[in-house]
Amino acid sequence: MTMKININKIQNINEWLGPIEKPLIIAGPCSIESEEQTISIALELEKNPHVKIFRGGIWKPRTRPNSFEGVGEIGLKWLQNVKKITNLKIATEVATPEHVEKALKHDVDILWIGARSTTNPFTVQAIADAIKGTNITVMIKNPVNPDLDLWIGAIERIYNAGITKIVAVHRGFSSFQKTKYRNAPEWKNVIELKRQIPSLPIITDPSHICGNRESLLEISQKAIDLNIDGLMIEVHNKPEYAMSDAHQQITPDELNKLLNNLIPRNESSENKDFENKLDTLRTYIDRIDDELINIVAERMRIVEEIGRYKKENKVTILQIKRWDEIMKNRLILANSKNLKEDFINILFQLLHEESIIIQTEIMNNK
Ligand code: PEP
Ligand code: MN
Repeated sequence: MTMKININKIQNINEWLGPIEKPLIIAGPCSIESEEQTISIALELEKNPHVKIFRGGIWKPRTRPNSFEGVGEIGLKWLQNVKKITNLKIATEVATPEHVEKALKHDVDILWIGARSTTNPFTVQAIADAIKGTNITVMIKNPVNPDLDLWIGAIERIYNAGITKIVAVHRGFSSFQKTKYRNAPEWKNVIELKRQIPSLPIITDPSHICGNRESLLEISQKAIDLNIDGLMIEVHNKPEYAMSDAHQQITPDELNKLLNNLIPRNESSENKDFENKLDTLRTYIDRIDDELINIVAERMRIVEEIGRYKKENKVTILQIKRWDEIMKNRLILANSKNLKEDFINILFQLLHEESIIIQTEIMNNK
């Protein structure tokens, strides 16, 4: 059962950042490494009108100890200088109340909670308690594991601390199966988050999804296509020598190219013909969905009848040969209609699972 979400005062990004043209771009190195590097990247990024926020990690959550774990507190001074020298806002990751305290003391504009921290409600609560009563902006990355409720729970904890400038950051999810991405995007979680908290701004972090430079454009475009509010992209002056996440970072020039290659999309169009045609097509879809539900209901009614008949004759629910035949036949038909095999497989497995549940209920019903 899903719990009611009581979040209704989250502010729009332009209420605290000023007018932005979508997509908002947050850029900067995975980790800041020296003062010169930090300032020189920031000066380059400032030239791009889409870039409004400079990101830089100083406390880095690394998978193994003895890797570079960030420059620590000294980095806050460098970030502060970015704020002085450029018109960029500054953002860094915090994972403990001490981080929060130090970051606030150095006028950091935006704190973000990393994916590893979001998985742990104790950590998120400790951060929430530390920011209570401040006017800070908080970005909350999705948890490492694909658990939407855990992500929403972290957002609620921060919101309950009185913070209304909240942004969710979609950075992909680790998965047991190897995919072409470092962290599988699982877009359905983003769509569902948007559905459950419509006022929540969402930003995609293609760098941590991809784990490489090559797929950044594809993931960024997909985010734009889904009407995401912005992108957080790791940018380094010498990506290949970066002390963390070297494979996924790009130069400021490459960022400009990437942004120029993105095709912008609007949520709606001024074009009346387009809107009319879209309306017609949507009415058609609504009708088809009605039919689909009626047909599924009819299928389940027959399933029930079969269940009762099997019960009377003491026959098992599952006949693996019959199921195998169904799958084969359905796939052949689907194939002839240009429907993808994986999709039909999942759809029929779902239908079959529900059929088994219905028949089990009938069998168990004395
Ligand atoms: C980062 O943004 O540098 C970072 C550590 O990201 P994540 O928490 O998404 O792994
Ligand atoms: Mn990184």
